[in-house]
Amino acid sequence: MELIYYCNQCNRLVDELEVEKIDEEKLGLSILTSDEKEDIIKRTENRIEIGIICDECEIEDDLTSLVGDNLLH
Ligand SMILES: [Zn+2]
Repeated sequence: MELIYYCNQCNRLVDELEVEKIDEEKLGLSILTSDEKEDIIKRTENRIEIGIICDECEIEDDLTSLVGDNLLH
């Protein structure tokens, strides 16, 4: 099965792996609620896509929230 991580924000392909099965525990997905899982995980017949935030977008997010914080105070 193909496991694909893509960025939710810029839609960039972040990582791509071939796995025997999806171990939610191992992937850290077991901490998510089923609603959250539905939001970020797309399953098709032979591949699973997981929406994450890539490093670049994460940095931008931090900057945005820093600016936002400053504006609030
Ligand atoms: Zn991104």
